Amino acid sequence: MWCMRFAGLMMVALTSFSLIGTSLAASCRTSESFESWLAEFKREAAAQGISQRAIMAASPGMVYDQRIVNIDRGQRVFNQTFIEFSTRMLPSYRIQKGAQLIQQHAAIFQRVQQQYGVPAAVIVAFWGLESDFGLNMGKEPSLKALTSLAYDCRRGDMFRGQLLDALRLIERGDVRPEEMIGSWAGEIGQTQMMPTEYNKYAVDFDGDGRRDLLKSVPDVLASTGNYIQNLGWQRGQPWLREVRVSANVPWDQADLNIQHPHSQWALWGVTDADGRPLPTEAPPASLVLPMGRFGPAFLAYPNFQVYLKWNQSLVYSLTAAYYATRLSGAGPMQKGSGVPPPLSFEQAKDLQRMLARYGYTGEIDGKLGISTRTAIKAAQTRVGLPADSYPTVELLERLRGGH
Ligand code: CA
Repeated sequence: MWCMRFAGLMMVALTSFSLIGTSLAASCRTSESFESWLAEFKREAAAQGISQRAIMAASPGMVYDQRIVNIDRGQRVFNQTFIEFSTRMLPSYRIQKGAQLIQQHAAIFQRVQQQYGVPAAVIVAFWGLESDFGLNMGKEPSLKALTSLAYDCRRGDMFRGQLLDALRLIERGDVRPEEMIGSWAGEIGQTQMMPTEYNKYAVDFDGDGRRDLLKSVPDVLASTGNYIQNLGWQRGQPWLREVRVSANVPWDQADLNIQHPHSQWALWGVTDADGRPLPTEAPPASLVLPMGRFGPAFLAYPNFQVYLKWNQSLVYSLTAAYYATRLSGAGPMQKGSGVPPPLSFEQAKDLQRMLARYGYTGEIDGKLGISTRTAIKAAQTRVGLPADSYPTVELLERLRGGH
């Protein structure tokens, strides 16, 4: 399964938190000619039981496009803060439209919830973020995109598997080759699934015999529910709650790897976002401070892990989970005050270099993802700053000062 989305249409910027390593860009070369590679690929497809008819149908689309590879290699890092990203992605119209669609498709959602245990709000949030509810599913022919990335040397094996699954979708009659249009990384449909996810999790929910994630809303909603269930969603459990923190919180406990019961968080002064006490019945939760102790605060429950499997970017995951809480009746976010300004790209790289001493083993790429935050916490603890895992100029300067 995909632990990251390569090019969610509206979040190209954030996918750069994923495993796409720009430093790999120039380090490999494809030696075989495209024609002989393609002939060999088609032999493999046939050997795996894909019919000649499906292979022939896909053939006109299976062309190499250097532009796709260039997009993939040229992805630029562009760190947006959680507040910047969530504000941009969740204008009020998207919250209203999501709520309206939940009403409009209430009967479908009831069946989906019954079968897969996933609430409408959770599905609709992904639907809105990934394609603006089906309005913007991308413009790249999928076969061309997948073929180009499968031929390119860097992640050829993975995209080869995706291309094989795209042929399987054609073989089953789920989608016609010319209908397969999506992101430059091969994601298709209203919730932007890769062909392998599509082939594995899509269900025909409107009963027309095809699993159509491009045009059939019942198929899209049920397939997305099935996929989310398979990512580990626990029926009836919460996923995220916005909270208010007090100065009594030991900041180093705000960590996705640490869970405490509500009763413990309450002792440390954590309340519901509106100031009321936390409910007593809830699974253990992690405190997440995406922008440090002065910014918004959330309790994340085990179901939040599903979001990180959908897209490993914390900023994307929190936005999707928060959006689903809004669609379930939560109020607007309290954005906090006094959040230190984000680091520049150069400062972020500089910080990563210095974090090597604190356990950071990732690339010096300026992408401040979850692994960087873990090292930030260790460094903050060492230099005596509140260990809220948020990168600040203050921390950078302390580390430059010889700590
Ligand atoms: Ca169908």
